[in-house]
Amino acid sequence: MNEKHVLILGAGFAGLELAVRLSETLADEVSVTLIDQNGAFYFGYSKLDVLLGRKTAGEVLLPYADIAKDGVDFRQERVTSIDPETRRVETDRQSYESDVLVVALGADYDFAATPGFTEGGFEYYSLAGAERLRDALPEFQSGTIVIGILGHPFKCPPAPFEGALLLHDYLERRGIREAAEIRVLGPMAAPVPVTKEVSQSILDALAARGIEYVPNQHITALDSESKQVRLAEGANVPYDLFVGIPVHRVPGVVEASGLAVDGWIPVDRTNLATRFADVYALGDVAGAPTAKAGVFAESAAAVVADDIAARLRGGASPRPWEGAGSCYIEFGGGAVGKVEANFLGGPAPTARLVGPSLELAKEKEAFGATRRERWFGRAG
Ligand SMILES: Cc1cc2nc3c(=O)[nH]c(=O)nc-3n(C[C@H](O)[C@H](O)[C@H](O)COP(=O)(O)OP(=O)(O)OC[C@H]3O[C@@H](n4cnc5c(N)ncnc54)[C@H](O)[C@@H]3O)c2cc1C
Repeated sequence: MNEKHVLILGAGFAGLELAVRLSETLADEVSVTLIDQNGAFYFGYSKLDVLLGRKTAGEVLLPYADIAKDGVDFRQERVTSIDPETRRVETDRQSYESDVLVVALGADYDFAATPGFTEGGFEYYSLAGAERLRDALPEFQSGTIVIGILGHPFKCPPAPFEGALLLHDYLERRGIREAAEIRVLGPMAAPVPVTKEVSQSILDALAARGIEYVPNQHITALDSESKQVRLAEGANVPYDLFVGIPVHRVPGVVEASGLAVDGWIPVDRTNLATRFADVYALGDVAGAPTAKAGVFAESAAAVVADDIAARLRGGASPRPWEGAGSCYIEFGGGAVGKVEANFLGGPAPTARLVGPSLELAKEKEAFGATRRERWFGRAG
């Protein structure tokens, strides 16, 4: 049989799950090349483990060298150009032709979009940022911590609030919570705009810990000299420690390819196909009407794998993508909640918060363990 070449750019939640699914279902019919610039994967939430000193950065890395799946060839290379018309891709090492091209390059951070942020702020959305904030936290003794959401959309909608809840916990453990004020400033009218109920549960959890969410705040810059956050609305907000959720954007190579429109890659929401023939986009890089989170990237990969299989074998199209999944959120004290969301399965998006509880903390552990096993063949 004439094997088709599927080229997957990006080995995050989306790329890994798609490569494994294609290996499981189509290993005899496709050869898969999976490309990532990094040598190892880590879960988004591992950054919280690093931030809180529960694990080192080295301990959360899962080397791609461990991937051993039939028909899947991993290459550590940086993608430097994508031509969606011809499905030809250049990397820092070589060029590739593909029958099916899948863009799963995630979202990058645009630190420069917020002047003063790099000089005057911290973040925990990158591994290096989580390490830097972990090392700075012991110096904080008292004052105002501002968690500023600098743009929308951003990865994992509960994560800024999770950060606030965990910082509360951390300061309590150090016995200095009374000496600190924690405020979350965001451009959204509510923490999780898609649902009033989940937003209210998060607001209640914040309020119970004396944390304020200030909605509709558009931060334009930080003045690191005077330690003030500047708002588009005109006011300044003082801080002693600023922790920002950076502005997100598609990686530069995607921007240059012409694939993105209005910031993200438009896709057919039912099967993640782009407007270019035999080119899919999924995960955070896609402009799909769901939250940007690993669980949605993963469920999209299942649909793309089925779509590729249906087209190669001439079968019926798969069931449309529902944009469904559960995102975990740590509440402190070892308790974890989960937001169960379904963005596309019904007439309107639905979401509900389950927990928090200690049982769900075990479930979150199991979630990580099954992916480690499935993608990297690692037990435990
Ligand atoms: C603090 C935090 C907590 C989170 N918690 C959760 C959670 O509990 N549950 C959840 O579901 N999600 C969570 N997320 C979100 C989750 O990590 C992302 O939404 C998810 O990783 C998106 O998957 P993806 O495959 O689209 O992109 P990514 O996982 O970001 O993968 C994209 C890959 O593309 C590669 N890449 C980019 N550019 C290039 C290039 N030019 N050349 C080669 N390779 C390139 C990158 O190296 C990367 O490996 C969290 C995120 C953060 C920051």
